[in-house]
Amino acid sequence: MSSCGLHCLKISNIGVQADGKTLLQDVSLHVHCGQLTAIIGRNGAGKSTLLKAILGEVSYTGSVEFSGHNGTPVQGGKPRIGYVPQALSIDCHTPASVYDMLLSLTGAYPAFFPKRRKMVEKFRTHLARFRAAELLDQPIGRLSGGELQRVLLAAATLPTPDLLVLDEPVSGVDHSGLAELYELLDALKEHEDMVILIVSHDLTYVREHADKVVLLDKTVQAFGTPEAVFATEAFHSAFMGGGAK
Ligand code: ADP
Ligand code: MG
Repeated sequence: MSSCGLHCLKISNIGVQADGKTLLQDVSLHVHCGQLTAIIGRNGAGKSTLLKAILGEVSYTGSVEFSGHNGTPVQGGKPRIGYVPQALSIDCHTPASVYDMLLSLTGAYPAFFPKRRKMVEKFRTHLARFRAAELLDQPIGRLSGGELQRVLLAAATLPTPDLLVLDEPVSGVDHSGLAELYELLDALKEHEDMVILIVSHDLTYVREHADKVVLLDKTVQAFGTPEAVFATEAFHSAFMGGGAK
């Protein structure tokens, strides 16, 4: 599917303060549907805080507006948002399975009822899109980092959101897991017209997969294609001295 080409997510002059500190200042961004937009920046730049503002998890000044396809407001005025967190603390002994997690996240029916075949089929078919069909009955505490990442992505896209927000894990997912994540995001981008926003720590994947890049350090330091942003002075001073975190 080709991009609808509209500014689907319009962030205007976002500011976030906490404990007398300015975490974000005057952040403005227009993000398009059908594109993968990566947020990069040094550790502590405010990347997670920006995601939390978009999700409404922290209070902020400024505005976050979302318009659906054709520039019209989405139904009910609120976009459906899928969120994949950076980390989850899961008790490795929990008996809850991937099925239980999908059931509780989608709120399909009370979890204490016996398993319904229709639901099992629905979840299995959806998980298959994320190469995770065989994980349906696995306890979530026993999944590898990469497996959990795929399951969380499946959970965040059931049903299809208008906006998919991901905070890429910094630990627990190896390179092949990350490569797989970006391949799955490419497939989502191709088949669904949603806004995909990811905080990324791996510049190689950003260069290869992102349509647009936001270099953040409290405010937007650079915005554009990976080539354009990677060529800026701000990018060099952010990443040449220290590592990307
Ligand atoms: P990033 O994701 O880019 O590493 P964060 O958005 O997590 O950065 O954090 C940005 C800065 O804000 C950090 O210096 C962090 O310590 C600080 N911070 C994050 N949340 C809070 C909070 N609730 N109160 C005070 N400071 C915070
Ligand atoms: Mg972060």
